[in-house]
Amino acid sequence: MLNTKNCKNKKICLVDVDSSIPNLALMKISSYFKKNGFEVDLKKLNYSGYDHHKREKVTIDGSEYDKVLISSIFTLNKDIVKVENCSNVHYGGTAHDIKLKLPEKIEHMYPDYELYPENEYSIGYLTRGCIRKCEYCFIPEKEGSLRIHSSLAEFYNPSLPKIMLLDNNFLASKKSISLLKELKKTDKKISFKQGLDFRLLTPEKAKLLSELDYDGEYIFAFDRPQDIKIIEKNLEIWQPLVKDWQTKFFVLVGFDSTLEQDLDRAMFLKENKCLAYVMRHSNCYDSKDRPFYTDLASWCNQPGLFKKMSFKEFIKKRHTTKKRYNQTMKIIKKDKLVI
Ligand code: SF4
Repeated sequence: MLNTKNCKNKKICLVDVDSSIPNLALMKISSYFKKNGFEVDLKKLNYSGYDHHKREKVTIDGSEYDKVLISSIFTLNKDIVKVENCSNVHYGGTAHDIKLKLPEKIEHMYPDYELYPENEYSIGYLTRGCIRKCEYCFIPEKEGSLRIHSSLAEFYNPSLPKIMLLDNNFLASKKSISLLKELKKTDKKISFKQGLDFRLLTPEKAKLLSELDYDGEYIFAFDRPQDIKIIEKNLEIWQPLVKDWQTKFFVLVGFDSTLEQDLDRAMFLKENKCLAYVMRHSNCYDSKDRPFYTDLASWCNQPGLFKKMSFKEFIKKRHTTKKRYNQTMKIIKKDKLVI
């Protein structure tokens, strides 16, 4: 697929359809082709992963390129790009095949940071895979079991001010303690893009994590209501080390939790001065309880309002029409929710 022989123009076009952050795979592919003497163009389309956003198909003229490589993350964007005048077109990204991997010789290339000149982050994975197999998550299928993936040096760019780690379950790694120490030594601002696994926090990991110059809020996952006891226990370790509201939890709703459990998790986090970010499972959009999920997400996902108002106050303020107010209140009353 990515061979570099028999190319006349020595020019390729990379198309980033919908990455919200610089596309790491494309940066590695770019390095590989530049190393082989190619000129590389990037077309960034900035499509969104939400189905209610308007999307028009795009046609790319490929006449000057030997190859066009298109990367899409979201399935709904997978057929959005049409290429004309080039027969060597490749589609990649999780939208096309979650198991698709870069060839080993490209996977471990140093990323081409020139591809995204506005980017401030060294980006990469220290570990890949996960120790768990949550039913709602594609990572076990995509990445398999947890292992060390690369050294920090493999993607670290000393001239950039921040480091963004894309690891899916960093705290599960036996090396997490030594890696946290290594990250601290860089003196860069650090963030983990995915929610860290709060259930795996130990006093030592918590201390090291809290000592990083962290970029934004610490983000953890609180996907399952049944984890409330371990979350509560680990908050006793964690909260004294950080400021109030410096911690955010992703809260998955609409998968197999009840509305009461969803609301309880949000209120529990608020009581503990943590932010909640509601992640709506796709089930929510076809559910009869959709108005409730929309309200819950709107309350939680606006930190200023979440901190200031109760859910009840929020609903009253949000719904100026009686019809919409009653839609949510009907669900709340039916489910006997305490708001
Ligand atoms: S712990 Fe996180 S990454 Fe691992 S399977 Fe569950 S949701 Fe996915």
